[in-house]
Amino acid sequence: MDMNLENKNSKKLLECRICNSSDIISILDLGKQPLANSLKKEKTQSESSFSLEICQCKNCSVIQLTETIDAKLLFNEYVWVTGTSKVANQYSQIFFNRSKKYLKSKKDFIVEIASNDGTFLKPFKEDGFNVLGVDPASNIAEIANRQGIKTIPNFFGLQSSKEIVEKEGYANLIFARNVIPHVENIKDVISGISNLLSKNGVGIIEFHRADIILDELHYDSIYHEHLFYFSIHSLTFLLNSFNLYTFDLDISPISGGSFVIYFSKERKIKSNILIKKEKEEINLGVDNLINWKNFSTKVLSHKKKIVQIVSEFNEAKKKVIAYGASARSSTLLNFCEFSYKDLEVIADKSAMKQGLFTPGTEIPIVSPEDALRNDPDVILLLAWNFKDEIIEELKTKYNWKGKLILPLPYEPKVIDI
Ligand SMILES: [Zn+2]
Repeated sequence: MDMNLENKNSKKLLECRICNSSDIISILDLGKQPLANSLKKEKTQSESSFSLEICQCKNCSVIQLTETIDAKLLFNEYVWVTGTSKVANQYSQIFFNRSKKYLKSKKDFIVEIASNDGTFLKPFKEDGFNVLGVDPASNIAEIANRQGIKTIPNFFGLQSSKEIVEKEGYANLIFARNVIPHVENIKDVISGISNLLSKNGVGIIEFHRADIILDELHYDSIYHEHLFYFSIHSLTFLLNSFNLYTFDLDISPISGGSFVIYFSKERKIKSNILIKKEKEEINLGVDNLINWKNFSTKVLSHKKKIVQIVSEFNEAKKKVIAYGASARSSTLLNFCEFSYKDLEVIADKSAMKQGLFTPGTEIPIVSPEDALRNDPDVILLLAWNFKDEIIEELKTKYNWKGKLILPLPYEPKVIDI
């Protein structure tokens, strides 16, 4: 491990990224881990590891990482392409239908922050709206531009929002799906949204919900890119400090459970569902430190259970592989200290990942066809958040029968398919 590289590219959190309080308390330490998306070309390629730990701010209650990695190191070449997921493709249509009610004319201007390959802007464009994507991963922005979704390869913030206003005018709809929790300089992004949003415009933020992480034990959603674990309460605190006000909420199927929060510059009456979900968070105690300490204890016992299940299959000479080489699977694999000795290969549909190795655990990534050709007995479903879609394919496309380990949500389960 290169210590110099590590010091240069990461820094320890000294005060809350949202309210600047120095009163921050450690919750869970997942150890030193490589960057979840830094897939390796060679098994022996060296890599840097960084502390992966979450803490809570006692003042504003937000859960966040204790280490910040240089964004250039994290996001320049991103390997997750939205369009490769069937669920994401279907959801982009639902997302469009839900958001459309806030648009008044075909001249309306729609901006997506961290628009990836443009999958979510596509339905708006096809319906005749004026769309613009902003994404820092230059390789992915290029894919979007090639597919006709105009995309600026840049980080979004106050400065870039000013440039957009100058060239294109104010936005009637701005959305940011699963990106706000990834940004260190989060206040600059919200300030950019506030600057770019028209007076009657609507902003939408989608985020992996802290209540479900806490309740269903989604510790695999903790990785270096994911700096914040927002509740409705902590996100509202952030928006309010920029004079933006929440008024509605939807539920999204992405990431095993996400909230979609709608907000505007004018104060509107809150919808019943938003009020209901706010009450549920309070009842669950999503902002209480004691519940997060309890979460930490459960995560440590979850690791023991999953390691035991995999090692029992291996001891019984069963052929065990994994499915899904996502960022979340990297956290689980590294935390559980699995390697290619425990899991022969990882199947993944993304051609960009095939032929590479998982960071820290050096497991070869292959296509589902190649993984299933050797007829494995057991599959550890790391992409459990796409469970239904993957089980359906294993059954109908590959005629595979065997034991499927579902690591999450809650306790690990083994099912026959
Ligand atoms: Zn705070």
